[in-house]
Amino acid sequence: MNVNILIVDDESTVRHPMNEFIKLSGYNSFEAASAEEAIDILKTNSIQVVITDIMLPEMGGFELTELIRKEYDSDVIVITGYSDIYSYEEAIKMGASDFIIKPVRFEELLLRLKKVLTERELATDRGRMMERLQKLAITDGLTKLHNSRSFYSQLEVEVDRFNRYKRSLALLLMDIDHFKKYNDTYGHLEGDKALVRIAQLIKSCLRKLDSAYRYGGEEFTVILPETSCEEAHTVAQRIKSALKAENFIPKQGKEAQITISIGVTEYSPDEQLSEFIQRADKAMYLSKGKGRNKVTSLTAEETS
Ligand code: GH3
Ligand code: MG
Ligand code: MG
Repeated sequence: MNVNILIVDDESTVRHPMNEFIKLSGYNSFEAASAEEAIDILKTNSIQVVITDIMLPEMGGFELTELIRKEYDSDVIVITGYSDIYSYEEAIKMGASDFIIKPVRFEELLLRLKKVLTERELATDRGRMMERLQKLAITDGLTKLHNSRSFYSQLEVEVDRFNRYKRSLALLLMDIDHFKKYNDTYGHLEGDKALVRIAQLIKSCLRKLDSAYRYGGEEFTVILPETSCEEAHTVAQRIKSALKAENFIPKQGKEAQITISIGVTEYSPDEQLSEFIQRADKAMYLSKGKGRNKVTSLTAEETS
């Protein structure tokens, strides 16, 4: 990876040799004679580390450090000839990663630069790992849809939004028909493969705002914000038909069809989350009762 370093010092007799040394050490190096020039370079280049003098003609090195830490993803090493005026603590408080006193010994500068770069790498790795862990915590391992835990938390968020803005909010709850038989006939592994396909298919039928979840073993839910029961019914029909049209090939030369039963409902003001979900579940069971491969809508008025 190319590492870009930016040296900011108004004295060319300091800046040039440092630039040469950094280049000889194997890094790409940029030079700026002022904070303003440095900002121009930062705008158009991805700089990993800025090495800046504190005393600069207009904007000072500390101010530049603060700005960089706020707006750019660069580490800053500050350099000063006035060790009695500027303290290490002050520099760190401004967001600097290290502080060097002039005259600068190049070998020392290189060691400190390497240390800052290593810490940067560790921080990036840690950030990536956290991101992955967070994603894992809300993702279903098999289908890669959101998991049921994230269903409940997202539904809570959407209900809060409903209560604030009074926009409609719909929910689909679906359960695959006779899936036990599919497993028994073709094996659990083929069943798993079918679940993955079905999850993809459900997702492909949704709009941008909608989100799909694996609610349980072979049960899925979809949250549809800003959507009425009728509109959600149309989405459910689309999913039902798409699945019906899909050919599964669990064995060579064998084709199988899978159908799904869907319940549709809309949130009713001030009701409990559990009532909302139970109504969708009830609607789904009505679809099962009607012979499966059906969509049934149920509103709060119809249930009461
Ligand atoms: P119904 O139409 O009434 O929904 O019939 P069904 O057989 O789908 O319903 P039931 O609840 O009796 O069984 C659900 C089956 O789904 C049981 C299990 O074999 C299967 N199943 C649940 N989770 C998984 C899974 O993660 N992988 C696989 N392969 N099968 C699963
Ligand atoms: Mg089930
Ligand atoms: Mg089922």
